[in-house]
Amino acid sequence: MTSKLSPPPAPVEKHGLRELKAAREIAHAFLTAERPTDVYRIALEHVTPLVGASFGCVFLRGSGDESDLLHVVAAFNWPQKYGTYLSKLRVRVGNGPTGRAVAENRTFEVSDVFADPALEDWWESARELGFVSSISLPLAFKGKPAGALTFYYRDPEKFPTENPGLLELVADQLAATAEKAHLIEDLQITNEKLREQNIELEARYREADEARRLKNEFLANVSHELRTPLTAILGYAYLLKEGVSGTLNPEQARAADKIDSSGTDLMRLINDLLDLTHIKLGEIEIDPELTDAISLARATVSDAPEPLAGVEISVVSDESAVPIHTDSSMVLRILKNLVSNALKFTLAGSITIRVRLDQGVNGSSAIEPAPVVVWEISDTGIGIAPEEQKNIFQEFRQVDGSATRRFGGAGLGLTLSQGLAERLGGEISLTSAPGEGSTFTLTLPAGVMRAGRTASTDKKTDD
Ligand code: ADP
Repeated sequence: MTSKLSPPPAPVEKHGLRELKAAREIAHAFLTAERPTDVYRIALEHVTPLVGASFGCVFLRGSGDESDLLHVVAAFNWPQKYGTYLSKLRVRVGNGPTGRAVAENRTFEVSDVFADPALEDWWESARELGFVSSISLPLAFKGKPAGALTFYYRDPEKFPTENPGLLELVADQLAATAEKAHLIEDLQITNEKLREQNIELEARYREADEARRLKNEFLANVSHELRTPLTAILGYAYLLKEGVSGTLNPEQARAADKIDSSGTDLMRLINDLLDLTHIKLGEIEIDPELTDAISLARATVSDAPEPLAGVEISVVSDESAVPIHTDSSMVLRILKNLVSNALKFTLAGSITIRVRLDQGVNGSSAIEPAPVVVWEISDTGIGIAPEEQKNIFQEFRQVDGSATRRFGGAGLGLTLSQGLAERLGGEISLTSAPGEGSTFTLTLPAGVMRAGRTASTDKKTDD
Protein backbone atom coordinates (compact mmCIF):
# COMPACT_ATOMS: atom_id res chain seq x y z
CA MET A 1 0.00 0.00 0.00
CA THR A 2 1.47 3.28 -0.99
CA SER A 3 0.81 6.21 1.08
CA LYS A 4 0.74 9.61 -0.55
CA LEU A 5 1.65 12.71 1.23
CA SER A 6 -1.32 14.99 1.35
CA PRO A 7 -0.70 18.14 -0.68
CA PRO A 8 0.08 21.35 1.20
CA PRO A 9 -3.07 23.33 1.94
CA ALA A 10 -4.08 25.39 -1.01
CA PRO A 11 -3.72 29.14 -0.47
CA VAL A 12 -7.45 29.37 -1.11
CA GLU A 13 -8.12 27.20 1.94
CA LYS A 14 -5.78 29.29 4.03
CA HIS A 15 -7.60 32.40 2.94
CA GLY A 16 -10.93 30.66 3.45
CA LEU A 17 -9.91 30.07 7.04
CA ARG A 18 -8.97 33.73 7.50
CA GLU A 19 -12.29 34.80 6.02
CA LEU A 20 -14.10 32.50 8.42
CA LYS A 21 -12.11 33.89 11.29
CA ALA A 22 -12.83 37.46 10.22
CA ALA A 23 -16.55 36.72 9.90
CA ARG A 24 -16.51 35.11 13.33
CA GLU A 25 -14.74 38.11 14.89
CA ILE A 26 -17.27 40.52 13.41
CA ALA A 27 -20.19 38.38 14.59
CA HIS A 28 -18.55 38.31 18.01
CA ALA A 29 -18.22 42.12 17.92
CA PHE A 30 -21.95 42.36 17.22
CA LEU A 31 -22.81 40.11 20.13
CA THR A 32 -20.56 41.88 22.63
CA ALA A 33 -21.29 45.42 21.50
CA GLU A 34 -23.76 47.64 23.25
CA ARG A 35 -23.66 50.45 20.71
CA PRO A 36 -22.92 50.54 16.96
CA THR A 37 -19.55 52.27 17.60
CA ASP A 38 -18.59 49.31 19.81
CA VAL A 39 -19.19 46.97 16.84
CA TYR A 40 -16.68 48.97 14.76
CA ARG A 41 -14.16 49.18 17.57
CA ILE A 42 -14.28 45.47 18.55
CA ALA A 43 -14.32 44.32 14.92
CA LEU A 44 -11.33 46.55 14.02
CA GLU A 45 -9.44 45.27 17.03
CA HIS A 46 -9.69 41.69 15.80
CA VAL A 47 -9.67 42.16 12.06
CA THR A 48 -6.80 44.67 11.63
CA PRO A 49 -4.10 42.12 12.64
CA LEU A 50 -5.88 39.47 10.58
CA VAL A 51 -5.44 41.50 7.39
CA GLY A 52 -1.84 42.35 8.31
CA ALA A 53 -2.42 46.11 8.65
CA SER A 54 -0.63 48.31 11.16
CA PHE A 55 -3.72 50.34 11.91
CA GLY A 56 -7.27 50.71 10.73
CA CYS A 57 -10.11 53.21 10.84
CA VAL A 58 -13.84 53.27 10.23
CA PHE A 59 -15.13 56.50 8.72
CA LEU A 60 -18.83 57.42 8.53
CA ARG A 61 -20.64 60.26 6.85
CA GLY A 62 -21.82 62.98 9.19
CA SER A 63 -25.45 64.03 9.35
CA GLY A 64 -27.17 67.23 8.23
CA ASP A 65 -24.66 69.85 7.05
CA GLU A 66 -21.83 67.37 7.54
CA SER A 67 -23.27 64.67 5.27
CA ASP A 68 -20.47 65.30 2.76
CA LEU A 69 -17.77 64.87 5.37
CA LEU A 70 -16.43 61.61 6.77
CA HIS A 71 -15.40 61.43 10.40
CA VAL A 72 -13.69 58.66 12.32
CA VAL A 73 -16.04 56.55 14.49
CA ALA A 74 -13.54 53.84 15.44
CA ALA A 75 -9.80 53.28 15.10
CA PHE A 76 -7.40 50.53 16.02
CA ASN A 77 -3.71 50.98 16.72
CA TRP A 78 -3.83 54.58 15.55
CA PRO A 79 -0.45 56.18 16.39
CA GLN A 80 -0.89 57.43 19.93
CA LYS A 81 0.92 60.70 19.21
CA TYR A 82 -1.90 61.74 16.91
CA GLY A 83 -4.76 60.53 19.11
CA THR A 84 -6.25 64.01 19.61
CA TYR A 85 -6.13 64.69 15.88
CA LEU A 86 -8.42 61.69 15.29
CA SER A 87 -11.63 63.23 16.62
CA LYS A 88 -11.06 66.37 14.52
CA LEU A 89 -10.20 64.49 11.36
CA ARG A 90 -12.65 65.14 8.51
CA VAL A 91 -12.32 63.72 5.00
CA ARG A 92 -14.50 65.14 2.25
CA VAL A 93 -16.40 62.50 0.24
CA GLY A 94 -14.52 62.22 -3.08
CA ASN A 95 -11.19 63.41 -1.64
CA GLY A 96 -8.24 61.07 -1.13
CA PRO A 97 -8.39 57.29 -0.99
CA THR A 98 -11.07 57.02 1.73
CA GLY A 99 -13.20 59.82 0.25
CA ARG A 100 -13.02 58.26 -3.19
CA ALA A 101 -13.91 54.77 -1.90
CA VAL A 102 -17.16 56.31 -0.56
CA ALA A 103 -17.84 58.56 -3.58
CA GLU A 104 -17.21 55.81 -6.11
CA ASN A 105 -18.56 52.98 -3.92
CA ARG A 106 -15.56 50.76 -4.72
CA THR A 107 -12.37 49.51 -3.12
CA PHE A 108 -9.59 52.04 -3.46
CA GLU A 109 -6.02 50.77 -3.19
CA VAL A 110 -2.90 52.90 -2.75
CA SER A 111 0.12 50.66 -3.22
CA ASP A 112 2.64 53.46 -2.47
CA VAL A 113 1.35 56.83 -1.50
CA PHE A 114 4.73 58.49 -2.15
CA ALA A 115 4.89 57.08 -5.65
CA ASP A 116 1.74 58.86 -6.74
CA PRO A 117 2.09 62.64 -7.24
CA ALA A 118 -1.72 62.92 -7.28
CA LEU A 119 -1.63 62.03 -3.62
CA GLU A 120 0.92 64.66 -2.69
CA ASP A 121 -1.57 66.28 -0.29
CA TRP A 122 -1.47 63.10 1.78
CA TRP A 123 2.30 62.72 1.94
CA GLU A 124 2.72 64.76 5.10
CA SER A 125 -0.02 62.85 6.94
CA ALA A 126 1.37 59.54 5.67
CA ARG A 127 4.86 60.47 6.85
CA GLU A 128 3.64 61.55 10.28
CA LEU A 129 1.34 58.59 10.79
CA GLY A 130 3.88 56.19 9.34
CA PHE A 131 2.04 54.47 6.52
CA VAL A 132 3.02 53.86 2.90
CA SER A 133 0.13 51.94 1.47
CA SER A 134 -3.57 51.73 2.28
CA ILE A 135 -6.73 50.10 1.17
CA SER A 136 -10.16 51.69 1.58
CA LEU A 137 -13.36 49.69 1.29
CA PRO A 138 -16.79 51.29 1.06
CA LEU A 139 -19.30 50.48 3.82
CA ALA A 140 -22.75 50.41 2.30
CA PHE A 141 -26.00 50.57 4.27
CA LYS A 142 -29.00 49.50 2.21
CA GLY A 143 -26.83 49.70 -0.90
CA LYS A 144 -25.78 53.31 -0.25
CA PRO A 145 -22.17 54.09 0.72
CA ALA A 146 -22.37 55.43 4.25
CA GLY A 147 -18.68 55.33 5.07
CA ALA A 148 -15.46 53.44 4.54
CA LEU A 149 -13.12 51.05 6.24
CA THR A 150 -9.45 51.92 5.67
CA PHE A 151 -6.48 49.77 6.61
CA TYR A 152 -3.02 51.37 6.65
CA TYR A 153 0.28 49.53 6.03
CA ARG A 154 3.82 50.56 6.89
CA ASP A 155 5.23 48.98 3.74
CA PRO A 156 4.20 49.31 0.12
CA GLU A 157 1.62 46.84 -1.21
CA LYS A 158 1.37 44.80 1.95
CA PHE A 159 -2.39 44.44 1.87
CA PRO A 160 -3.72 41.01 0.92
CA THR A 161 -4.32 41.79 -2.73
CA GLU A 162 -3.84 38.12 -3.47
CA ASN A 163 -7.14 37.62 -1.70
CA PRO A 164 -9.33 40.67 -2.10
CA GLY A 165 -12.27 38.48 -1.06
CA LEU A 166 -11.11 38.63 2.54
CA LEU A 167 -11.16 42.43 2.67
CA GLU A 168 -14.45 42.67 0.83
CA LEU A 169 -15.95 40.14 3.18
CA VAL A 170 -14.68 42.13 6.13
CA ALA A 171 -16.22 45.33 4.75
CA ASP A 172 -19.53 43.69 3.81
CA GLN A 173 -19.83 41.87 7.11
CA LEU A 174 -18.94 44.97 9.06
CA ALA A 175 -21.47 47.08 7.14
CA ALA A 176 -24.25 44.50 7.58
CA THR A 177 -23.45 44.05 11.25
CA ALA A 178 -23.22 47.76 11.91
CA GLU A 179 -26.49 48.33 10.08
CA LYS A 180 -28.18 45.84 12.40
CA ALA A 181 -26.56 47.49 15.39
CA HIS A 182 -27.81 50.91 14.19
CA LEU A 183 -31.30 49.47 13.80
CA ILE A 184 -31.15 48.05 17.30
CA GLU A 185 -29.92 51.37 18.62
CA ASP A 186 -32.75 53.19 16.81
CA LEU A 187 -35.18 50.70 18.32
CA GLN A 188 -33.70 51.24 21.76
CA ILE A 189 -33.96 55.02 21.35
CA THR A 190 -37.57 54.68 20.17
CA ASN A 191 -38.33 52.33 23.06
CA GLU A 192 -36.79 54.73 25.52
CA LYS A 193 -38.84 57.59 24.07
CA LEU A 194 -41.99 55.46 24.31
CA ARG A 195 -41.16 54.57 27.89
CA GLU A 196 -40.72 58.26 28.75
CA GLN A 197 -44.00 59.10 27.01
CA ASN A 198 -45.74 56.33 28.94
CA ILE A 199 -44.43 57.68 32.23
CA GLU A 200 -45.67 61.13 31.28
CA LEU A 201 -49.06 59.79 30.20
CA GLU A 202 -49.38 57.88 33.45
CA ALA A 203 -48.56 61.02 35.41
CA ARG A 204 -51.11 63.01 33.41
CA TYR A 205 -53.70 60.29 33.91
CA ARG A 206 -53.06 60.33 37.66
CA GLU A 207 -53.38 64.14 37.68
CA ALA A 208 -56.64 63.98 35.69
CA ASP A 209 -57.93 61.26 37.99
CA GLU A 210 -57.06 63.33 41.04
CA ALA A 211 -58.70 66.40 39.48
CA ARG A 212 -61.84 64.31 38.80
CA ARG A 213 -61.86 63.07 42.37
CA LEU A 214 -61.45 66.62 43.72
CA LYS A 215 -64.22 67.86 41.43
CA ASN A 216 -66.57 65.15 42.68
CA GLU A 217 -65.69 65.87 46.29
CA PHE A 218 -66.21 69.58 45.68
CA LEU A 219 -69.60 68.90 44.06
CA ALA A 220 -70.60 66.65 46.95
CA ASN A 221 -69.65 69.35 49.48
CA VAL A 222 -71.34 72.19 47.60
CA SER A 223 -74.51 70.14 47.08
CA HIS A 224 -74.55 69.28 50.74
CA GLU A 225 -74.10 72.92 51.74
CA LEU A 226 -76.88 74.03 49.35
CA ARG A 227 -79.34 71.60 50.85
CA THR A 228 -79.36 73.21 54.30
CA PRO A 229 -80.59 76.71 53.27
CA LEU A 230 -82.91 75.17 50.68
CA THR A 231 -84.54 73.00 53.36
CA ALA A 232 -85.19 76.19 55.36
CA ILE A 233 -86.70 77.94 52.30
CA LEU A 234 -88.99 74.97 51.61
CA GLY A 235 -89.94 74.79 55.31
CA TYR A 236 -90.94 78.48 55.43
CA ALA A 237 -92.84 78.17 52.12
CA TYR A 238 -94.77 75.27 53.64
CA LEU A 239 -95.56 77.29 56.79
CA LEU A 240 -96.71 80.24 54.66
CA LYS A 241 -98.96 77.94 52.59
CA GLU A 242 -100.36 76.42 55.77
CA GLY A 243 -101.35 79.93 56.89
CA VAL A 244 -99.17 79.89 60.03
CA SER A 245 -98.41 83.60 59.50
CA GLY A 246 -101.97 84.44 58.56
CA THR A 247 -104.21 83.73 55.62
CA LEU A 248 -102.60 84.45 52.25
CA ASN A 249 -104.38 86.38 49.56
CA PRO A 250 -104.52 84.57 46.15
CA GLU A 251 -101.43 86.35 44.83
CA GLN A 252 -99.41 85.53 47.94
CA ALA A 253 -100.62 81.89 47.75
CA ARG A 254 -99.46 81.68 44.11
CA ALA A 255 -96.08 83.10 45.11
CA ALA A 256 -95.76 80.58 47.96
CA ASP A 257 -96.69 77.76 45.54
CA LYS A 258 -94.02 78.98 43.11
CA ILE A 259 -91.38 79.07 45.88
CA ASP A 260 -92.42 75.56 46.90
CA SER A 261 -92.40 74.00 43.41
CA SER A 262 -89.17 75.70 42.25
CA GLY A 263 -87.51 74.87 45.55
CA THR A 264 -88.59 71.24 45.23
CA ASP A 265 -87.17 71.07 41.67
CA LEU A 266 -83.92 72.55 42.92
CA MET A 267 -83.81 70.12 45.84
CA ARG A 268 -84.31 67.21 43.38
CA LEU A 269 -81.47 68.45 41.22
CA ILE A 270 -79.17 68.88 44.22
CA ASN A 271 -80.06 65.40 45.50
CA ASP A 272 -79.38 63.88 42.07
CA LEU A 273 -76.06 65.69 41.87
CA LEU A 274 -75.14 64.56 45.35
CA ASP A 275 -76.06 60.94 44.61
CA LEU A 276 -74.17 61.02 41.34
CA THR A 277 -71.00 62.25 43.02
CA HIS A 278 -71.40 59.63 45.75
CA ILE A 279 -71.73 56.91 43.09
CA LYS A 280 -68.62 58.20 41.32
CA LEU A 281 -66.66 58.30 44.53
CA GLY A 282 -67.81 54.72 45.21
CA GLU A 283 -69.57 55.92 48.32
CA ILE A 284 -73.04 54.48 47.97
CA GLU A 285 -74.33 51.79 50.25
CA ILE A 286 -76.63 48.98 49.21
CA ASP A 287 -79.25 47.78 51.64
CA PRO A 288 -80.69 44.60 50.10
CA GLU A 289 -83.95 42.90 51.05
CA LEU A 290 -86.31 40.38 49.52
CA THR A 291 -88.97 42.25 47.55
CA ASP A 292 -91.32 41.91 44.59
CA ALA A 293 -90.39 43.47 41.25
CA ILE A 294 -94.05 43.87 40.18
CA SER A 295 -94.94 45.70 43.41
CA LEU A 296 -92.01 48.06 42.87
CA ALA A 297 -93.31 48.85 39.37
CA ARG A 298 -96.84 49.43 40.69
CA ALA A 299 -95.57 51.68 43.49
CA THR A 300 -93.67 53.74 40.91
CA VAL A 301 -96.78 54.20 38.78
CA SER A 302 -98.99 55.14 41.72
CA ASP A 303 -96.45 57.75 42.91
CA ALA A 304 -95.95 59.17 39.40
CA PRO A 305 -97.73 62.37 38.32
CA GLU A 306 -100.87 61.99 36.25
CA PRO A 307 -100.10 61.27 32.58
CA LEU A 308 -101.25 63.74 29.96
CA ALA A 309 -104.82 63.35 28.79
CA GLY A 310 -105.04 60.43 26.37
CA VAL A 311 -101.92 58.68 27.69
CA GLU A 312 -102.42 55.28 29.36
CA ILE A 313 -99.95 53.90 31.87
CA SER A 314 -99.97 50.26 33.03
CA VAL A 315 -97.88 47.51 34.65
CA VAL A 316 -97.97 44.13 32.88
CA SER A 317 -96.59 40.73 33.94
CA ASP A 318 -97.32 37.05 33.25
CA GLU A 319 -96.52 36.30 36.88
CA SER A 320 -98.37 37.27 40.03
CA ALA A 321 -95.07 38.08 41.75
CA VAL A 322 -91.42 38.32 40.65
CA PRO A 323 -89.20 38.01 43.74
CA ILE A 324 -85.89 39.80 43.81
CA HIS A 325 -83.29 40.33 46.49
CA THR A 326 -82.03 43.86 45.99
CA ASP A 327 -82.05 47.41 47.32
CA SER A 328 -85.71 48.46 46.82
CA SER A 329 -85.14 52.18 47.34
CA MET A 330 -82.50 52.23 44.61
CA VAL A 331 -84.74 50.30 42.22
CA LEU A 332 -87.61 52.68 42.98
CA ARG A 333 -85.28 55.59 42.25
CA ILE A 334 -84.36 54.13 38.85
CA LEU A 335 -87.94 53.22 37.92
CA LYS A 336 -89.13 56.67 38.98
CA ASN A 337 -86.57 58.34 36.67
CA LEU A 338 -87.44 56.08 33.71
CA VAL A 339 -91.20 56.42 34.21
CA SER A 340 -91.08 60.19 34.69
CA ASN A 341 -89.05 60.48 31.46
CA ALA A 342 -91.61 58.30 29.66
CA LEU A 343 -94.39 60.54 31.00
CA LYS A 344 -92.50 63.69 30.03
CA PHE A 345 -91.77 62.61 26.46
CA THR A 346 -95.07 60.85 25.64
CA LEU A 347 -97.72 63.21 24.39
CA ALA A 348 -100.16 60.51 23.24
CA GLY A 349 -100.52 56.73 23.35
CA SER A 350 -99.34 54.55 26.21
CA ILE A 351 -96.60 53.73 28.70
CA THR A 352 -96.22 50.08 29.67
CA ILE A 353 -93.97 48.56 32.32
CA ARG A 354 -93.45 44.84 31.64
CA VAL A 355 -91.91 42.81 34.46
CA ARG A 356 -90.45 39.33 34.11
CA LEU A 357 -87.92 36.88 35.48
CA ASP A 358 -85.32 35.80 32.94
CA GLN A 359 -82.69 33.07 32.95
CA GLY A 360 -80.08 35.72 32.16
CA VAL A 361 -76.77 35.13 30.49
CA ASN A 362 -75.03 38.01 32.15
CA GLY A 363 -74.73 36.42 35.56
CA SER A 364 -71.53 36.13 37.56
CA SER A 365 -70.82 32.64 36.17
CA ALA A 366 -70.74 32.01 32.44
CA ILE A 367 -71.32 28.27 33.04
CA GLU A 368 -74.48 28.70 35.07
CA PRO A 369 -76.29 31.87 34.03
CA ALA A 370 -77.78 33.68 36.99
CA PRO A 371 -81.50 34.59 36.81
CA VAL A 372 -82.26 38.26 36.26
CA VAL A 373 -85.31 40.46 36.73
CA VAL A 374 -86.22 42.64 33.79
CA TRP A 375 -88.34 45.82 33.78
CA GLU A 376 -89.16 47.11 30.31
CA ILE A 377 -90.49 50.66 30.29
CA SER A 378 -91.97 51.22 26.82
CA ASP A 379 -93.54 54.41 25.62
CA THR A 380 -95.09 55.68 22.42
CA GLY A 381 -93.37 59.05 22.84
CA ILE A 382 -91.10 61.19 20.70
CA GLY A 383 -88.32 58.55 20.52
CA ILE A 384 -84.56 59.10 20.36
CA ALA A 385 -82.35 59.23 17.24
CA PRO A 386 -79.75 56.41 17.05
CA GLU A 387 -76.79 58.83 17.24
CA GLU A 388 -78.15 60.29 20.52
CA GLN A 389 -78.87 56.99 22.25
CA LYS A 390 -75.40 56.58 23.80
CA ASN A 391 -74.98 60.27 24.66
CA ILE A 392 -78.08 60.61 26.80
CA PHE A 393 -76.54 58.31 29.42
CA GLN A 394 -73.80 60.89 29.97
CA GLU A 395 -74.32 63.53 32.64
CA PHE A 396 -76.07 66.74 31.59
CA ARG A 397 -76.68 65.35 28.07
CA GLN A 398 -80.11 65.87 26.55
CA VAL A 399 -81.32 65.34 23.01
CA ASP A 400 -82.45 68.94 23.04
CA GLY A 401 -80.03 70.79 25.29
CA SER A 402 -81.06 74.28 24.14
CA ALA A 403 -82.33 76.92 26.53
CA THR A 404 -85.59 77.04 24.60
CA ARG A 405 -86.24 73.30 24.87
CA ARG A 406 -89.79 72.04 25.30
CA PHE A 407 -89.14 69.64 28.17
CA GLY A 408 -87.59 70.43 31.55
CA GLY A 409 -84.88 68.50 33.39
CA ALA A 410 -81.16 68.77 33.96
CA GLY A 411 -79.94 65.69 32.11
CA LEU A 412 -78.87 63.79 35.22
CA GLY A 413 -81.64 61.18 35.56
CA LEU A 414 -80.26 58.56 33.15
CA THR A 415 -76.65 58.92 34.30
CA LEU A 416 -77.76 58.48 37.88
CA SER A 417 -80.04 55.56 37.00
CA GLN A 418 -77.30 53.79 35.03
CA GLY A 419 -74.88 54.34 37.93
CA LEU A 420 -77.35 52.88 40.41
CA ALA A 421 -78.14 49.92 38.12
CA GLU A 422 -74.44 49.15 37.79
CA ARG A 423 -74.00 49.45 41.54
CA LEU A 424 -76.76 46.80 41.89
CA GLY A 425 -74.91 44.53 39.44
CA GLY A 426 -77.12 45.28 36.44
CA GLU A 427 -77.60 47.74 33.59
CA ILE A 428 -80.03 49.84 31.60
CA SER A 429 -80.29 49.40 27.84
CA LEU A 430 -82.28 51.29 25.26
CA THR A 431 -84.05 50.66 21.97
CA SER A 432 -85.78 53.57 20.34
CA ALA A 433 -86.91 55.03 17.04
CA PRO A 434 -87.71 58.72 16.55
CA GLY A 435 -91.44 59.31 16.31
CA GLU A 436 -92.27 55.75 17.39
CA GLY A 437 -91.25 55.61 21.02
CA SER A 438 -88.59 54.20 23.34
CA THR A 439 -88.03 51.14 25.52
CA PHE A 440 -85.65 51.47 28.44
CA THR A 441 -84.81 48.03 29.90
CA LEU A 442 -83.57 47.72 33.45
CA THR A 443 -81.97 44.31 34.13
CA LEU A 444 -80.87 43.37 37.64
CA PRO A 445 -79.68 40.10 39.18
CA ALA A 446 -82.57 38.37 40.91
CA GLY A 447 -80.29 36.67 43.42
CA VAL A 448 -78.89 37.76 46.72
CA MET A 449 -77.08 41.08 46.57
CA ARG A 450 -74.17 41.47 48.91
CA ALA A 451 -74.72 44.41 51.21
CA GLY A 452 -72.58 47.23 49.85
CA ARG A 453 -70.20 49.19 51.97
CA THR A 454 -69.16 52.68 51.26
CA ALA A 455 -65.55 53.35 50.46
CA SER A 456 -65.39 55.67 53.47
CA THR A 457 -67.01 53.07 55.77
CA ASP A 458 -64.45 50.48 54.64
CA LYS A 459 -61.69 52.99 55.35
CA LYS A 460 -63.04 53.79 58.78
CA THR A 461 -63.26 50.05 59.63
CA ASP A 462 -59.68 49.50 58.50
CA ASP A 463 -58.48 52.41 60.57
P1 ADP B 1 -83.64 64.84 31.87
O1 ADP B 1 -84.84 64.04 31.57
O2 ADP B 1 -83.64 65.47 33.21
O3 ADP B 1 -83.27 65.80 30.79
P2 ADP B 1 -82.29 62.31 31.68
O4 ADP B 1 -80.87 61.95 31.93
O5 ADP B 1 -83.30 61.56 32.42
O6 ADP B 1 -82.38 63.86 31.96
O7 ADP B 1 -82.55 62.16 30.14
C1 ADP B 1 -81.64 62.73 29.23
C2 ADP B 1 -82.29 62.99 27.89
O8 ADP B 1 -82.64 61.76 27.28
C3 ADP B 1 -83.60 63.73 27.97
O9 ADP B 1 -83.39 65.14 28.09
C4 ADP B 1 -84.22 63.35 26.65
O10 ADP B 1 -83.63 64.13 25.61
C5 ADP B 1 -83.78 61.90 26.47
N1 ADP B 1 -84.82 60.95 26.95
C6 ADP B 1 -84.83 60.27 28.12
N2 ADP B 1 -85.89 59.46 28.20
C7 ADP B 1 -86.59 59.63 27.06
C8 ADP B 1 -87.81 59.07 26.54
N3 ADP B 1 -88.53 58.18 27.20
N4 ADP B 1 -88.22 59.49 25.32
C9 ADP B 1 -87.51 60.40 24.63
N5 ADP B 1 -86.36 60.97 25.06
C10 ADP B 1 -85.91 60.60 26.27
